[in-house]
Amino acid sequence: MSTQEHPLGISFEFFPPNTDAGRDKLMGVRDALAERRPRFFSVTYGAGGSTQDRTLHTVQAVRQSGITTAPHMSCIGSEKARLRDLLTRYREAGIDRLVALRGDLPSGMGGIGELRYANELVEFIRAETGDHFEIAVAAYPESHPQAPSFEKDLENFARKMKAGADFAVTQYFFSAEAYFHFVERARALGVEAPIVPGIMPITNYTKLARFSDACGAEIPRWIRKQLEAYGDDSEAIADFGEEVVSRLCQRLLDGGAPGLHFYTLNQAKPTLRVLDNIGC
Ligand code: FAD
Repeated sequence: MSTQEHPLGISFEFFPPNTDAGRDKLMGVRDALAERRPRFFSVTYGAGGSTQDRTLHTVQAVRQSGITTAPHMSCIGSEKARLRDLLTRYREAGIDRLVALRGDLPSGMGGIGELRYANELVEFIRAETGDHFEIAVAAYPESHPQAPSFEKDLENFARKMKAGADFAVTQYFFSAEAYFHFVERARALGVEAPIVPGIMPITNYTKLARFSDACGAEIPRWIRKQLEAYGDDSEAIADFGEEVVSRLCQRLLDGGAPGLHFYTLNQAKPTLRVLDNIGC
């Protein structure tokens, strides 16, 4: 299946490295993934603006590949003046796409700031900069961990989209049904914009389990059991992970997903193996 068949195509997410070695490695990863002609790269943003400069520097380095690169931006813990200043820096740097988030405030890290939720950030960006930025927001097919209910979370998601987001990228998941159900329910609430599945390649069970607990993504029992059984055999984990994630991606595309967004964790190989399997 070629990327042209999907209006949003594929995209790859990186985090800002904090060492010279990490930066050098990321440039190699970027070049390997750029060959797949993604629609964009994106770079995450630390809670409360903690990686503000590193995110911008990473975006500038990554976009030298010639591929549009979007910084993530979160509002929790930041005052409007700081966010306004950041938007100006992004515009001046020639950036025209953003991933807008509420973010999570680490405990003990000051007040929540002036914007409490991502829908308020999207409204703020539109009020400050009109249509300059293409804006993506986050979606949670298995519900955001703090949401009081699935229904409330869905309503909050629809409100965020209607505030001016152009498309959404989901938290990762391993159940295609959860994604299709979420999209169907969002459409029923009037959300027409693309909802792109976020894909997490499986490479390390311990890290995946810890991360999934924190962000509310469910690892199905049959996957968990097999990964547990592989213990320290990283090759077996990578092979099994590749098979599971490739099948998930194929099902999503066959079922009409408008593209795929990969959480690369700054590694090329696991994502490339999946892309090879699905012919992207
Ligand atoms: P929101 O959409 O604001 O939702 C947060 C919670 O509040 C939900 O439970 C929702 O139901 C509820 N809610 C929303 N709006 C309202 C409202 N108006 N009134 C009452 N309740 C409301 N984190 C980072 O720190 N940096 C990153 O770079 C980053 N990138 C991400 C990229 C993607 C694609 C995804 C899926 C997540 C990312 N995250 C990142 C994690 C994200 O910041 C957390 O999941 C955070 O807890 C929620 O952010 P949000 O933008 O989804 O929040």
